[in-house]
Amino acid sequence: PILQRHAWRPDRLVQILREVQEAVDFISDETAAHLAEALKIPYAQVHSTRDFYAFFYRENRGRYRVLFSDNITDRMAGNQALFEHMAKRLKLERGKVSDDGLVSIDYCSCTGMCDQGPAILVNNRAITRMTLRRVDEICDLIRGQVPLDKWPAEFFRVDDNIRRADMLLGTPHEPGKAVRAAIARGRDGMLAEMKLSNLRGRGGAGFTTAVKWEACRNAPATPRYIVCNADEGEPGTFKDRVLLQSYAGRVFEGMVIAAWTVGASHGFLYLRGEYLYLLQPLEAYLAGMRAAGLLGRDIGGVAGFDFDIEIHLGAGAYICGEETALIESLEGKAGRPRVRPPFPVTSGYMGKPTVVNNVETLCKVTEIAINGGAWYEAIGTKQSTGTKILSVAGDCARPGLYEYAFGVRIAQVLEDCGAQEAIAVQVSGASGVCLSEREFGRRIAFEDVPTAGSFMIFGKQRDLFEVARNFAHFFAHESCGFCTPCRVGTVLMKEIMDKIAEGRGTQYEMNELLRLQQVLKPGSHCGLGQTAGNAVADTVQKFRPAYERRLAETDFVPAFDLDAALSRARELAGRDDAAAHLGEEA
Ligand code: SF4
Repeated sequence: PILQRHAWRPDRLVQILREVQEAVDFISDETAAHLAEALKIPYAQVHSTRDFYAFFYRENRGRYRVLFSDNITDRMAGNQALFEHMAKRLKLERGKVSDDGLVSIDYCSCTGMCDQGPAILVNNRAITRMTLRRVDEICDLIRGQVPLDKWPAEFFRVDDNIRRADMLLGTPHEPGKAVRAAIARGRDGMLAEMKLSNLRGRGGAGFTTAVKWEACRNAPATPRYIVCNADEGEPGTFKDRVLLQSYAGRVFEGMVIAAWTVGASHGFLYLRGEYLYLLQPLEAYLAGMRAAGLLGRDIGGVAGFDFDIEIHLGAGAYICGEETALIESLEGKAGRPRVRPPFPVTSGYMGKPTVVNNVETLCKVTEIAINGGAWYEAIGTKQSTGTKILSVAGDCARPGLYEYAFGVRIAQVLEDCGAQEAIAVQVSGASGVCLSEREFGRRIAFEDVPTAGSFMIFGKQRDLFEVARNFAHFFAHESCGFCTPCRVGTVLMKEIMDKIAEGRGTQYEMNELLRLQQVLKPGSHCGLGQTAGNAVADTVQKFRPAYERRLAETDFVPAFDLDAALSRARELAGRDDAAAHLGEEA
């Protein structure tokens, strides 16, 4: 029935694998071979796709698969002690399955719950606000083999935590209003408003949305596609989670407006696997939109305006947030970034023109459809129009979402969220920038500090070396392995950070870290590798004592003493004059 539901389509492979795993707990080589045969695709494709995604397993990982979110904010909230406690209670080691095949525990990358961590996933269902008591309760439920849907609903509660609302978060949504406004403006009129608004993508890169839309619209091939990138994987980011949970109408209507403007007939929402709990409510919302004539055929009564949206769930690969990797994943493959050009606007999903926009960007589109581009352009700064939502987490009294007009100073955000003793802020996640106190006067804007939304705060009790080490581990884990500088460089960086942490580092390792950054940045194929060394480079530069106090020696000390090793040879040769020693004058 799973294959039937997906019409035996190979491009649905990631969805098929997910559902098969849900049914039988893991995807064995035999199951992979069976799927390859049924879908009429090479076994290697099924095999490589399965092995690429962190949430697919080739061997039994237990009926209960527990993953502890391991972002730095989870660590600051004590996730390691909770992990150890659960491991002890279940008599388990990290990554191992219990002897009775019931349960396994491990760590995973950030699950997007930093405002209510520490968080875990159990069979991909998010559980927030973990405590020792909750660990005990969960151990009892697992040992009692209680099905997940019978666990206390409170465990799965995910709060929005909206702390500061502006024009997006503070305006009630009126279903259909934005779509009707866009249709009334006409396709050319809507594009003209988008140009006027100077809206830039909220996913991090800040590309002008109207330019993207126009390029797709002008591409001759059809059909055209609209993809909403809801693969919010940057550590510390969770704003899209809230928008999808409580502002889904805006997201989907933004997609409909994009389809209207560029002439697209089909849309995908690529939802990160960690947000599995949102799948059903979002499907229900789409059904409601279909019933209201906002999706399907002749939308808004316009003959021939046909557009519908399907939801595709990711499977634990951060790199799928990169738009071409996301498209590969949509096509049922491992999510490795494509070589560009061609760009998705001319050759995207299935080689057809495709617009990929971030969740927040699409919400902004509804504001522009209703209020016009000039109204929108007047808010924010010259190069950064409108508002920006920040996901604030870490050492502050009130973590959650804060929406500001672009141009807000870091110090203002810190004051609003009750961060009194901050010594650093990591803006835009692990790939972003680490700002020290001296820089708190800087502004959130593309012309100063650009951000996809993550805003992690570190108080004076925090060790910025450990922050950078956490990020180094993250990148080594998430590198897709496509290109050598990133595949090797991120692992080397992680190992050097571990060596320094163990007190075995020297000045040589410090120099190597900076040298690696210079290899990663220009040599990597995509943004992941290009930014993977940012946090290390920033903290070496701005928080150097955090590194130096761990160094065994500040001078280079070779791991192997060659001169000493040659002493036996000197003895045998009967020659022990100065010239027979390395480093001495002949
Ligand atoms: Fe993959 Fe890293 Fe290369 Fe990007 S930079 S393609 S993530 S190996």
